[in-house]
Amino acid sequence: MKGKLIIVSGPSGSGKSTVTKLVKDKLNIPLSISATTRKPRNGEIDGKDYYFLTKEEFQKKIKNDEFYEFANVHGNYYGTLKKTVEENLEKGLNVILEIDVQGALIAKEKKKDAILVFFKTENLEVLENRLRNRKTDSDEVIELRLKNAKKELEYEKKYDYVIVNKEIEKACNDLINIINL
Ligand code: 5GP
Repeated sequence: MKGKLIIVSGPSGSGKSTVTKLVKDKLNIPLSISATTRKPRNGEIDGKDYYFLTKEEFQKKIKNDEFYEFANVHGNYYGTLKKTVEENLEKGLNVILEIDVQGALIAKEKKKDAILVFFKTENLEVLENRLRNRKTDSDEVIELRLKNAKKELEYEKKYDYVIVNKEIEKACNDLINIINL
């Protein structure tokens, strides 16, 4: 039996990363580390949070067809390596990818039974407060992410499930229930 591919997306600040990490730990789902050309934030570690690559290194991997999907998000490249996904699915392990809406649609095109889950907050005000309170990004980056959030929300209807993340524990249970369906 092959594993399931679960794809989680949603605007920055929707809490999707926190929930995805907790669910992966709880269900023993291996981490899938993406590559990015974004600079590491304080405390982020290469090979743990992301593979931090230069634009040239990333483009070389595109050329060598190493990506399952990739996209330009908020001005940087982000991509999932093929081997991360395919090896685990073959072994019968479930894979959760936390990727942007463009990448999610590419992955769904490749694997029609992938399960798409969209995370959002009750409204944009909550999203803005979360982005400002986490203090990981500059005002300029926050403005860009808020602007992009409005575009990302238009993709919600293409997803199989939508989780309104008001409370972490409830959102984790919702995601676990979707995976176990
Ligand atoms: P952040 O910079 O906050 O870590 O991530 C920004 C956005 O990039 C998030 O929406 C995240 O889901 C997305 N992202 C992270 N990894 C990947 C990936 O491998 N592929 C794609 N398409 N998007 C990704």
